[in-house]
Amino acid sequence: MAKTIEKKLEIASEFVKCPKCGKDIKPQGMPGHMRFVHATHTPSPRKDAPPPKPIQRVVASVSVVQELKSIVADLDEVRQELERVKKKKDAEWFKHDETLDDRLSVLRAEETKLKARLQQLKARTTPNT
Ligand SMILES: [Zn+2]
Repeated sequence: MAKTIEKKLEIASEFVKCPKCGKDIKPQGMPGHMRFVHATHTPSPRKDAPPPKPIQRVVASVSVVQELKSIVADLDEVRQELERVKKKKDAEWFKHDETLDDRLSVLRAEETKLKARLQQLKARTTPNT
């Protein structure tokens, strides 16, 4: 008789009672029991919860505006340089400096590239609706 009580006490100290169903569970098994038997795991984020889009959109538009500004600045610089080279070429037409022609074509290509990029960005910032 005394032996059974001892055994019961031993078991009682080895296990903890589940607060939900009263079942004896090993302490290390309790988190799993709660999770799988009583499904008390932290709920996964609701699928209809609004995604953190607005902030991302604001950041995106700020970076677009910054890019626009830098492209406009670049374009300005390229055009000024283009004017300088053209004037130099006009003034030194008799020298027939080929490096000036090269410089002009490089600048014109750069201007075209920047204009295209500018159009792309403007299309992105203008709503299609
Ligand atoms: Zn339980």
